[in-house]
Amino acid sequence: MVSNDKVTLETSVEDYYRGVKLLHDPIRNKGTAFSEEERDRLGLRGLLPPKVFTQEEQIIRVLDNLQRKSTDLERYIYLMALQDRNETLFYRVVKDHLNEIMPLIYTPTVGKACRQYGHIFRRPRGLFLSARDKGRMGQVLANWPHRDVRIIVITDGERILGLGDLGANGMGIPIGKLTLYTACAGIHPTQCLPITLDVGTNNRQLLNDPLYIGLGQERLRGREYDELFDEFVDAATTRFPRAIIQLEDFANCNAFRLLREYRNRICLFDDDIQGTASVTLAGLYSAQRITKIEFKNQRLLFLGAGEAGIGIGHLIVSALKSEGLSDQAARQRCWFFDSRGLIVKQRDDLEEHKRPFAQESEHLSSFKEAIERFRPTAIIGVSGAAGSFSEPVLRQLAEINQRPIVFALSNPTSKSECSAADAYRYTGGRAVFASGSPFDPVDYEGRAFVPGQGNNAYIFPGVGLGVIACGATRITDEMFFVAAKSLASQVTESDLALGRIYPALSNIREVSAKIAVAVAELAYESALTTEKRPEDLLEHVKQLMFDPTYDN
Ligand code: NAD
Repeated sequence: MVSNDKVTLETSVEDYYRGVKLLHDPIRNKGTAFSEEERDRLGLRGLLPPKVFTQEEQIIRVLDNLQRKSTDLERYIYLMALQDRNETLFYRVVKDHLNEIMPLIYTPTVGKACRQYGHIFRRPRGLFLSARDKGRMGQVLANWPHRDVRIIVITDGERILGLGDLGANGMGIPIGKLTLYTACAGIHPTQCLPITLDVGTNNRQLLNDPLYIGLGQERLRGREYDELFDEFVDAATTRFPRAIIQLEDFANCNAFRLLREYRNRICLFDDDIQGTASVTLAGLYSAQRITKIEFKNQRLLFLGAGEAGIGIGHLIVSALKSEGLSDQAARQRCWFFDSRGLIVKQRDDLEEHKRPFAQESEHLSSFKEAIERFRPTAIIGVSGAAGSFSEPVLRQLAEINQRPIVFALSNPTSKSECSAADAYRYTGGRAVFASGSPFDPVDYEGRAFVPGQGNNAYIFPGVGLGVIACGATRITDEMFFVAAKSLASQVTESDLALGRIYPALSNIREVSAKIAVAVAELAYESALTTEKRPEDLLEHVKQLMFDPTYDN
């Protein structure tokens, strides 16, 4: 399929993409793997060294190069350059070596890359829309070379991972997320569009940095911001009418509002609010198989009440209600603690999104005391406050619970509420642990634990694939609910025996395909699509998945 507008009916694809132009087209380039016949036919003879390599041999070279680099940031830069040169090879490496590569192209390394984006900048990728493009968003979107875009991931860079406002440097995040859409769910790279909406930054250090790549101004707020975002939505839905829009790493002053505003009008979701909720719910479903405490009897104490925390809270309340609890009883199972202490009714400083979870209780400003008072079965860290699940906190939780659930979901690793090693050490090896960024396996008193990664990367690729597969026109909370159930159902007894409450990452394509089926099934049942259901839905989904192997 040719998606480049420059190819007209008069020029065939092969006339257009030949010679140096072909080698510089990352979608079609095979580098040293072009065969003898292709080198003659496509005008490549002499432009490549004479030996023809297989894709497998090219992979060995990539892995060898990666090993020679001395830091993960250098490995990130190398991998991004490969993506710019040869996407098929890049995705093959990512797909076949996901455990090793995901931490390099996503959290935690992407956090380091975003912090220094202007300094390590090589080539642009994705679209940079800025406040200066007001009135011409449509024109700018038309510069994107591919027409059949199915997923747009957009950030305004204000809350990048747990690192705060990184302005236009946040572009690493939409790029990383879309890379995972392709690697984990086989969405074709030409169907993915990363966007940064640069509305300025309030990060002084960046504004004073001569190599910063974004607008040198304070962030737009209020009406100006809303008008710009609205123009983006109009332009994007006109130019790419079949695209999902995924909101990523917006600060909560905008995230909740934008989600509320657009979710019922277009095919849009917020991954931090909805995707995180789904992966956490899946983790709790799996954890009950270890703790033997049924999900409906869990008591959850959250550290952090932002997009991630409140998003998780809402989905858990829905899940508890589906098991027969009343709304009030379900809410009483979810207690929140933010930077100012326990979220209780008597507080008069609560933002709107926190109020539905304010409890009838006295205010406490110590998290450990909140554990003593509420006696949770699980603590869920979504605060970006590194090390806040301290030794006394973990010991206290372990005193109350035979198998305490500890989810330290903040990213990147430097912001994690505790390390895997500490979680096992201070609970006597009894913790059921998951973290947002990966931790290496831990040996505790002769037992090996493999911590699971409670990251929305398990969810959004499959949800996106499902929505594309059935042509759904909206993305609903129920989709994230069925995605959580599907993910949890794919955790095996051997995963649990290792202490891992998520499936192995090496199975992610299979996992995403099954999540996609669950999501599409729901869309057919709820009339969220007018497309006809294929007889074999799983096969249909699998057929859609891009296989990064050269075709001859
Ligand atoms: P946010 O800014 O919307 O919310 C942060 C919340 O943490 C706020 O309620 C704030 O009051 C609270 N907080 C900050 N410091 C605190 C402290 N010292 N003690 C208690 N509470 C504190 O951010 P968010 O979108 O909710 O993300 C929070 C963290 O979760 C980030 O580190 C992010 O990377 C991580 N996250 C992980 C995943 C995942 O898939 N694992 C997904 C989304 C977000």
